[in-house]
Amino acid sequence: MKAYDAIVIGAGLNGLTAAALLARAGWRILVIEQHNEVGGLAGPGILHDHGSLCTKLLAGLRLQDHGLELTRTAAPLHAATGAGERVTLSAEAPAGGLSPDDAEGYRQYRAVCSRTVPLFRKLLLRPVPQRKADFLMLLPCWRSAAARELLHLAPLSAKDFLDQFFVHDALKAALAVPSLQAMYGGPFAPFGALAILMHEAMRGQHVVGGLPALAGVLHEAAASHGVKTRTSTQAEEILVSKAGQACGVRLATGETIATRMVAAACSPKEVFGSLLRFGAQRHMFAWRTRHLRGRGTTAHMVLDAAAPALLPCTRIAPGLEALERSFDRLKRGELPDTFALEIAAGRKAAQLSVLAHCVPYRPKGGWTDAARSELTGRVMEQLLPHLPSTAQVSQLRTPADLENEYRIPGGHCYHLEQAPDQLLVRPVPNFASPVAGLFFCGSGAHPSGSVTCAPGALAARAMAAYQKPLGRLFRNNRHI
Ligand SMILES: Cc1cc2nc3c(=O)[nH]c(=O)nc-3n(C[C@H](O)[C@H](O)[C@H](O)COP(=O)(O)OP(=O)(O)OC[C@H]3O[C@@H](n4cnc5c(N)ncnc54)[C@H](O)[C@@H]3O)c2cc1C
Repeated sequence: MKAYDAIVIGAGLNGLTAAALLARAGWRILVIEQHNEVGGLAGPGILHDHGSLCTKLLAGLRLQDHGLELTRTAAPLHAATGAGERVTLSAEAPAGGLSPDDAEGYRQYRAVCSRTVPLFRKLLLRPVPQRKADFLMLLPCWRSAAARELLHLAPLSAKDFLDQFFVHDALKAALAVPSLQAMYGGPFAPFGALAILMHEAMRGQHVVGGLPALAGVLHEAAASHGVKTRTSTQAEEILVSKAGQACGVRLATGETIATRMVAAACSPKEVFGSLLRFGAQRHMFAWRTRHLRGRGTTAHMVLDAAAPALLPCTRIAPGLEALERSFDRLKRGELPDTFALEIAAGRKAAQLSVLAHCVPYRPKGGWTDAARSELTGRVMEQLLPHLPSTAQVSQLRTPADLENEYRIPGGHCYHLEQAPDQLLVRPVPNFASPVAGLFFCGSGAHPSGSVTCAPGALAARAMAAYQKPLGRLFRNNRHI
C-alpha cells in the first residue's frame, strides 16, 4: 500500500488548503515545501492586499476554531495626487479629497462593480466549463443584463474603462494598478478592465493579522486532520509509472516517496518545465503548458523608514500616459524612470513594504549590482516627496529573484498572467493534467492567483471527484 493518498508540492496558501480539505475527507496527505516555513508567497510580508479569501469554499475547515479572525472592513486606499496631497477611497464610497466630478465618478464606478461583479465571481468560482452540458448550464447567466455589461466592459483597456468615470489622472493610475499586476501590458492594453473587475470580483473578507496569520491557521487546520508537512524539502521529480500514472515524488536528496496522487501547488510551468521527465512531456498539453505566459513585472522592496509621512495602502503612480511609457521601456528590457508604487506597513514597526510595478523581469545586461541600485534609486526618487530623507531600501526582490526564491518561471505574481486566454478559456483546463493522478492546485490553476484559496479548494474537489468510484473516498468526498 502506498504511504500517502496524495503528496502536495508547495505549502503556499493553496497547497495548504487542498491538503487540509483532502485530509478532512480522510485522505493521507504529505505536504512538501522547499522553504523552512509554510505560507509560500504569503509568508514573508510581501503581499499587501489580504481581502479576497473565499470563505464559503473553506467553510468545512472551520478555520475560526483554529484562530482565524475576519473583518469586512478593508483599510481605505489612498492615492497620492501630488507631494503631500492624496485622495482616499473606501471600499464602498468616496471618502476624502476627491473633486465633485471624481466623487460622482467613484459612485458610478462602484455601481458598475456591484452590477457585474456577482456574476463574474460566480463564473470564476466554479470549474471552467468543458462539456456541452456545462456550457448549457451557464446559458441563463449569459442572458442577463449583467453579462452584457461585463462582456461590453471586459475587453476595454484600463485607460478606456477608467476614463469613463474619473478626471484626475493620478487617481486613474492608482486604480489601474491591479491590471498592471495581473497582466503583461500597460494601461492602454486591451483587457485591462477585465483584470480590474476580476480584482473587484475577488474581494472578500479581510484576515486579521494578515496573510502569515492565515498561513498559520491553514497549517494548523491541516495538521489537525493528520496532514504531515516536511519543510526544507525540495521535490526534484514527479515519478510516473509505465502506465502513465503519477506514483511518487523524488526529492532533491534522492529519497523517493510513493503516493497514489500528486497535487502541484507550484507553477504548472515548473511542473512541465522541470519536475516531469521526458515520457510525460510528449503530450500537446505539456507543450501548451510550457508556453503559458508568466512574465513578472513586479518587484518588492522593504524600506527602513521611521515615522514615514505615507499612510499604509497608498498608491503612487505618475498618470496613465507616463505608465504606458514606462511599460514601453520595460518591453525593450530597459528600466523605466517611474513606476506604479504600492505602499503598505512592513513586518516591523519602522518598516514599509513597497511593490513596484512596471519593472522588467530581466533588464538588458541582467540584474547586476548596478541595475539593482539603479532600480532602488529611481523608486526612492519617486518616493522622496513622501518620505523622510533617511529612508533606505533594506531588501529588494526583483521578478527574477521571485522566480529563483519561489520557483515561479518568469516570476509573475500569480504564477501565470491573467490574460483572457489564460483565465476563462484555459489551455490548462481546470485542475487535471494528462498524467493520470497529477493535479494542479496552485495559483496557476483556475480561477488563478491572489489569496482566495479557491484554486486549492476547487482542486481538492476535482481530486475527490476523480476518485469517486473508489468506495471509501466516494463516501468522504461530500465533506469537501
Ligand atoms: C510581489 C507579489 C505581490 C503580490 N501581492 C498580492 C496581493 O497584494 N494580494 C493578493 O491577493 N495576491 C498577491 N500576490 C499573489 C499571491 O501571492 C499568490 O497568488 C498566492 O499567494 C499564491 O499562493 P499559492 O499557494 O498558489 O502559491 P505560492 O505561494 O507560490 O506557493 C507555492 C509554494 O511551492 C513551493 N515550491 C515550488 N516548487 C517547489 C518544489 N519543487 N519543491 C518544494 N516546494 C516547492 C514554493 O516554495 C512555495 O512556497 C502577490 C504575489 C507577488 C509575487
